[in-house]
Order: sequence, then C-alpha cells, then structure tokens
Amino acid sequence: MKPSRGKTPSSKKTPRRVINKAKDPVEVYCRLRPLGDDDASVCVTPINGTTIQLKPPEGSHQYRHGNIKETHHSFKFVFPENVSQKALFDHVSLPLVDDLLHGKNALLFMYGITGSGKTYTMTGSPTDGGILPRCLDVLFNSLGELQARKYVFKPDKNNGFDVQTEADAMLERQKRELLPSVTCRTPSTPRTPGTPRRKLADLDELANRVRVPDNTRVSNIDEDTNYAVFVSYIEIYNNFIYDLLEETPPDPINPKSLQSRNLREDSDRNMYVNSCTEVEVKNTEEAYAVFLKGQRRRRVAHTQLNTESSRSHSVFNIRLVQAPLDPIGEEVLQDKDKICVSQLSLVDLAGSERTSRTQSSGDRLREAGNINASLMTLRTCIEVLRENQTMGTNKIVPYRDSKVTHLFKNYFDGEGKVRMVVCVNPKVEDYDETTHVMRFAEVTQEVQVARPQAVRHDVGLTPGRRRANQMYKKVIEEGGSVEDLKPIISLGPPFPCLQLCDPREDTTLHTLTAFLLEREKRRHTLREELLRKQGTFRAHLMEMERDMEQLKQENAELKMKLNSRNKSTDALEKRVKHLQQQNDMMMREQQLYEHDKREMESELATKRQKIQRELQEKDRLRNALKGVASSQKDKWQRECEKRVRATQLELETKMWVKDEKLRQLKEIVCAREQAKAKKTRTNSNNSTFNRSKSPPPKPSQPPVRLKHRRSKSTGNAVWVDHKPQSTLKTDTIMQPVYPKNKKTTAAPSVKDIKGSNNYMLTHQEEDSKGEVETKIFKGDVFETRGGGRAVQFNDVEKLRQDLPPSPPSNKRNKRPADEELDSGEWTDVETRCAVGIEGKPGASQPAAVHIVPQKKLKK
Ligand code: ADP
Ligand code: MG
Repeated sequence: MKPSRGKTPSSKKTPRRVINKAKDPVEVYCRLRPLGDDDASVCVTPINGTTIQLKPPEGSHQYRHGNIKETHHSFKFVFPENVSQKALFDHVSLPLVDDLLHGKNALLFMYGITGSGKTYTMTGSPTDGGILPRCLDVLFNSLGELQARKYVFKPDKNNGFDVQTEADAMLERQKRELLPSVTCRTPSTPRTPGTPRRKLADLDELANRVRVPDNTRVSNIDEDTNYAVFVSYIEIYNNFIYDLLEETPPDPINPKSLQSRNLREDSDRNMYVNSCTEVEVKNTEEAYAVFLKGQRRRRVAHTQLNTESSRSHSVFNIRLVQAPLDPIGEEVLQDKDKICVSQLSLVDLAGSERTSRTQSSGDRLREAGNINASLMTLRTCIEVLRENQTMGTNKIVPYRDSKVTHLFKNYFDGEGKVRMVVCVNPKVEDYDETTHVMRFAEVTQEVQVARPQAVRHDVGLTPGRRRANQMYKKVIEEGGSVEDLKPIISLGPPFPCLQLCDPREDTTLHTLTAFLLEREKRRHTLREELLRKQGTFRAHLMEMERDMEQLKQENAELKMKLNSRNKSTDALEKRVKHLQQQNDMMMREQQLYEHDKREMESELATKRQKIQRELQEKDRLRNALKGVASSQKDKWQRECEKRVRATQLELETKMWVKDEKLRQLKEIVCAREQAKAKKTRTNSNNSTFNRSKSPPPKPSQPPVRLKHRRSKSTGNAVWVDHKPQSTLKTDTIMQPVYPKNKKTTAAPSVKDIKGSNNYMLTHQEEDSKGEVETKIFKGDVFETRGGGRAVQFNDVEKLRQDLPPSPPSNKRNKRPADEELDSGEWTDVETRCAVGIEGKPGASQPAAVHIVPQKKLKK
C-alpha cells in the first residue's frame, strides 16, 4: 500500500479545488422588507413564491425615458415582507449548516442597497435572531457532546489545524485560564473615549437582552468524530481587510493605526486572511459574544474614522474542524491528515447603491467609489464566470481586482454551495437602484458552482466507538464488570408480559404477534445490515488481501533487489579490502623511499658543503697567485722603465756632450776667425787701438734647442687650456704662452670648445723615481657632422725634472753652462707622439680619452 493512500480526499482543507464535478447554480433568494409607513407606495410586489414585479414609479429614470412597463424577476424563492426570521433561516441557511456539519463549504451573501434589510436578515435582534445566531444555534445544538475539549485543535497559522492530546490541551487550558485572553472576554470591553455613548449602549443592550435561541438541530451527525468550532470576523473597507477580533484594540488617539491584513494562499491554494484571529467557541453564547465584540470594534472604528459601517463589507466565518476518534473512542485520533475542515462564510455586503445617489464628497466619495468598485468587481467576476460557463470561453476571471472576490475565489473556482439573499426595500425612491440589484441577481443565478463533496468519515475504524466507550465507562463507574455490558445491537425491547388472565383474551396474543413481527422486522433489518456490513467487510478484506498480495510481490522484488545489492556490496567490500592491502604495501614502499630520499639528501648536503669549501680554497689561491703575479709584473715593469730611462739619459748625455764639444770647437774656431778679422781691421784702419784684453765671453745660454721648439704656443690660435684642478704648478721657464686661451679645470663641453680651434690637456703623473712628470697633450678641434666637436691630438709636450748625470771626470773641460745644469734645472725635452681624443658628436662633454700610441706622426 502506498503511503499516500492513507490520505482521503476528505482530509483536505477548505474550500477544496475540484475538476469535472457535478455543479449547482448559485441560489439567489429575494427578501422584501416591510415599509415603515403603511401609506407609502411600493414599486415591488411579489407575484408568486418565486417572482416579483417591478413597476417603474413616475419619478424614476426609466419612467422618464418612457419605459413604463413592469418587469418580472424570478428567484429561487421570494420571501414576502411578513416572512419570519426563522422561516427564512430554515429555508436559506439550515441546509448550509447541514453541509457544514457534513464537511462541506458554503458561502452566503446579503446583497442590496443600504436600508434594504441586509444586516437585519443577517443579524436580526436578540429576541428574533437573524441567520448568523441561528446558524450558531443549530450548529451547537447538533454537535452537543460531540465537541472536543478546548485546545485539542489548534490553528497552525497556515489556514490549517494541528491536533494535540487531551493532556496537552488540558495544560494549555490551565495556562490560558491563568492568563485570560481578550478572545474569552465578554462584550463588556471598556468604552473607548470619544465613542458616542448611545451607539455602544445599543450594543450593550443587545448583549444584555435575553437571546431567544433557535432549537433546531441537524441529525445524522457522525458520532465517532470529534468537532471544534472556530469563528473569525473581518471587515473589508476601502479594499483593506481589518481583523475585528484582533487582540490589541485600535489606538483612540490615532485611529488610522488600524492594522490591515493581507490575503494568503495556503498549500491547497485556498485563500485566507493572514494572521487573522480565530477564536474557538464552545457554545452559541460564547460565539455570539465574540460576534458582538467584533461589532463593537467595528462601530468604534467607524465612529473614530467618521465613516459609515454600511459602506464596508463584513465577513463572519464559522469553521468546523472534525477528526475521527481513536479506536477505543476516547480521544481524537492523533493524525493531522485525518482532520477535515469545513467553512461557512456569512457575508453582509455594503450597500450596492451608486455614488451619485449618496451625494458623497471627499473621503466619503473615495470610500463609496471603493465600495462600488469592489461590488463592480464581484459583478464582473460573476459575469465572466457565467460567460465562461455558458459560452464555453476561457476568460480570466478578475478575482484579484478586489479583496472580496479574491477571498472567495475558491468558492467559485473550487467547490461549495453559494447562496445569496437579495434584500429589497420596495419603496419607490429605491426603484432605480433596485433594477440594478435585480439585474445582478439574475446574472448570478446563472453561474454554476461545483457541488461540495461529503466527508468520508470511514477511516477503517469500528463505528459506534464513542457509544461503546461511554457505556463501558458508565458500567465501570457504577462498579459493574465488562460482562454486564449489554450488546449495543439488540432485537428491540424485552418480551411483553405473556400472562393470560382469560382463555378468550386475544390482546396478549395480538401484542405478542405485533412484538414478534416487530422483532422479525428488526431482525430482518439487522440481517440486511449485517449482510451489507459483511459485504463491505469482505470488500475491505479483499482489498486488503489484494494489497497484501501486492505488498508480498513488492516485498519479494525488494528482497531480490536486496540480494543482488548485497552481492554487489560483498564484491565491493572484497575489492575495497584488496585495494586497502595494496594501499598498505604502497605506503610501506613509500616510507622506504622516503627514508632513502632523506639519506641521499643529507649526503648531497655534505657533498655540497665540500664543494663549497674547495671552491673557497680555489678562490683564495687564485687571489694569492694574482697578487704575486701582479706585484712581480709591476716590479719588472718598473725595473724595465728605469733601465730604459737610464739608457736614454745616458745616450742623451752623450749626445749633449758631443754637441757641447762641437759647440766649443765652433766657438774656438769662430773666436780665432774673429780675432784674425779684428787684427786685419785694426791694421788696415791704422788706428791705435790698444790691444786690450778681449771682453770676457757672454755666459752661455741654457742648452735649449730652440730650433726644435715648434711649440704651438705662438700665433693667433684660440686655445682651450684644460688644466685639471689637481695640477701642480711647475716653475720651469719653458711654460707655453697662449695669447688667446680659455682656461678650464673641468672637462670642456661642446659649448666651451666652440669658437676655439685648439685644445690642450695638462696631465701630471709620478714617474718611477717619484718625480712629477707633466704632459701637455695638444690637438686640433674639428666640427663634426652632427654639430659636435672632435679633438684630434697630434702633439704632446713632456716636462720632467731630472737630476743631471754624474759630472765627467775631466773637470777642466767643465764650462759655466755645465755648472748651471748641475744645479738641477728643468730641461725641456720634446717628444713627439700622436694621441687621439674624440668627442662624441652632439655630446655636451667630451667622451673618455683613449690614448693610442702611434709609431708615426700624423702630420
Ligand atoms: P441594511 O443593512 O441593508 O443597510 P438594515 O438591515 O440596517 O439595512 O435595515 C434598516 C432598517 O430597516 C433597520 O432599522 C431594520 O430594523 C429595518 N428592517 C429591515 N428589514 C426589516 C424586516 N424584514 N422587518 C422589520 N424591520 C426591518
Ligand atoms: Mg447593514
């Protein structure tokens, strides 16, 4: 058996949505109210039980347009002016209460213009109650002892109900009795300041007056079910929904603080008012008190807001919750799915008159407009529904356009009985409005609504559980035993007295015959009932057997599946084991490898350290060798240079000596020739010159070979004299002279060189003997193609101070000039070489100087 089978269709919530069910039309009744003034003329008269006649009065709109014909309108039933509240209730509402008790839904509308008697029909007076109190009366009369204890059923806030045990319900009762809630209060709510006393006094009077109850009761109620009644009361005003039973009363200072409620859809797609107060009531008085409390709240709110209650719609909802008793007939079956909820909605609509008629303005106009709009939506919905049903169209019914239609959408879409009482005030002034009412009523009658389904109480439990339980309890209470229990089913009363007083007496015989016939009839009925029940039982049994077979089959299939699953599980387990073993082996291998790896890594680290050390040693040795080599090299280089210089000096000295000798010879020769010539001149001129001692020869000039001096110091050339800051001053007389020069200590830029055609760079260095040697590099300046300047070195002057060589042994030959040289004077030795320095074209400073020794002179 599938789990969903346990949920019977009856267990669904109200109102249920159904498809392809039998349908009934909306039943529309008409009630004419009596005129207050007997002499006043009427425009509506009943013709028969179902038809009324409307006669246009002289001042009416139709009359003015020449339409003076009477119109006839038919209804399910027409109640004349003198109809009693009881008669109307029995006819219109009693079947709805019956439906409610049998788990079916119903909706009852009061429709008509203001003052037509809608509220009177719905509420009535305490002594002559209307539909609402009578419905409550009949409901509670019928339920009697079948009601569950309070709080066994609890609203679940989602339009459904939860069921709880008697014990839990008792705890809740105790809790709530200690903290009395507003819901249990009688209508003696404290008067709100500012509320006119008279209006509320009416209500108080209504509450205090002794109510005359309706004694009707509905039979055929399932006794093996527990029931609970919940009521709610809402008002729809200006398309806003207000809860008239809400706990917190409206703020008298800020009446607009009234909380409006929203509509919601539950899991069965039924509409309900969200967080609306639902009060569980146990009798009519309690329910009526709740109703009066709502009325009071409504009255207060309207007085505070200065609005008219006749312009709002009020909905009084009665919800009947029923759930089967448990197998022993003691408590409610603790199964939420077995709960059935049915609903009866009693709606007192606002006056259907048009806005213009009420001559409203401002807020009132808006309010009246809204009323008309919501009633207009109701009319439109009814018309579209009728069109869809009669013409087979599939137009969307605009239920959502107003709260009233949206709330009751499921009655039209789903299932339920819908009835409407059209209240008519037959006075002539209302004629025009009454014609509109008639038109709407006629259309409404053509709309079909799905017939509600009766509840299936049979949940497979033995009927008569409650009574059996009651009898059992009674016997136990009286101190009897279970054996004393009489069978619930009997063939009737015990045999009558069969004592014969007279042999001719027939009475006893007749009585016996009648008794036996009755007994036989009852036996027959019981037998039939037994056979029927046997049949039902057999059917149930067969169904169960079938279910059992099916379950067996399913079980076998499941077992087979389970076996195959077990096999595959075993195979998988084996595989898992094998894999685990493999995994263990691999783990072990991995551990070994890791150990090896660690060892090799430590070995590698040792070797790396060794290599590092060797490399360091190598570097150290290399550096040591390098130092030794370079010092050796430098030493040798110095030695070579020293020897070269010594040789050079020696050669030069030799040369100088030779030259000196030649010069001296030349001087001697010249002196002799001069002496000869002088002698000749003296002789020839006869002059008597004394042969005076010839003047001592001029001291010889320093041995400078002026003919070799081709210094470029002369001339008009413009020189750039680049002498670095560190240059030492030399005292030699052989200083170059430049009439036009630009002195600079830093490397000259292109700008500095511009305008000059020569460049000289003074460079000093220490020679191998520790003497300062000054070199002056000279060059020509050229303009490069890119606009820069290039210097081509072509001359170098070298100034060096040297000690003269040791004097020659022959001191006699020593001349004064030699003595001068001995005193350590500067000697200008001119050397020639070519040096190239080139500035980069366009560069602001000359580039690094590259000194390239050349063997040949460029010039
Ligand atoms: P509605 O609710 O349609 O505006 P009411 O029910 O308030 O109208 O009725 C207006 C007045 O007419 C009330 O005083 C009411 O007592 C009275 N009335 C309406 N119908 C009847 C009736 N059938 N018998 C006696 N009085 C009636
Ligand atoms: Mg009214």
